[in-house]
Amino acid sequence: MTVKISNKIVGYRVKKADPEAAQPAAQPENKPVEMNEYIERPDFLLGTTYKIKPPVAEHAMYITINDILLNEGTDHESRQPYEVFINSKSMEHFQWVIALTRVVSAVFRKGGDVTFLVEELRSVYDPNGGYFKKGGVFMPSLVAEIGAVIEKHLKAIGLIESEEMSEVTKRILAEKRAEFEASHTTATNDDKAGDYPPNATMCGKCNTKAVIVMDGCATCLSCGDSKCS
Ligand SMILES: [Zn+2]
Repeated sequence: MTVKISNKIVGYRVKKADPEAAQPAAQPENKPVEMNEYIERPDFLLGTTYKIKPPVAEHAMYITINDILLNEGTDHESRQPYEVFINSKSMEHFQWVIALTRVVSAVFRKGGDVTFLVEELRSVYDPNGGYFKKGGVFMPSLVAEIGAVIEKHLKAIGLIESEEMSEVTKRILAEKRAEFEASHTTATNDDKAGDYPPNATMCGKCNTKAVIVMDGCATCLSCGDSKCS
């Protein structure tokens, strides 16, 4: 309501709040809004099992990551990792491996962005030194290799973008490799398919022993990183 004031204002006072009028009859309770849906574990989950054979363990390890499908059948359908199990005949790492799987599973179930786990695990360095996996990839520790498996899985279900090498880059690398091997006949033909030339050196970018030097340029046959001197 508007009131036109035609006289001079000579005084004013602040209107006191009417205690009865201010209180709406039945005030709705201010309940906090739950942003996370409560998820009960379904009776079955789909999962993937990865096998790793780290030289620091006597037997192979089987890493199973189970996923849960959220908002199934809607536009917001998404696949999220839900739990991780590690199985092995080897018992020497049993204690901390179980602890790690429980903590990682708990982080998975919390929801939200879980991709930070990959960086955390992959940057764990074994004070005894790491090891080379088949194919020349350096693993700084067993924990890091478990992190690499989780990364592979998160890439497979689309939570981490995988930077696919272009077909052109792949072809150039294959050509470079063939050329290098032809000019270094000493490179033996042991049937280690997928391995890089034996005298290849470490790549600082992808941690793979795949760097060869050709025409004054150090080129990584794994990721394509190249430096010319
Ligand atoms: Zn590289």
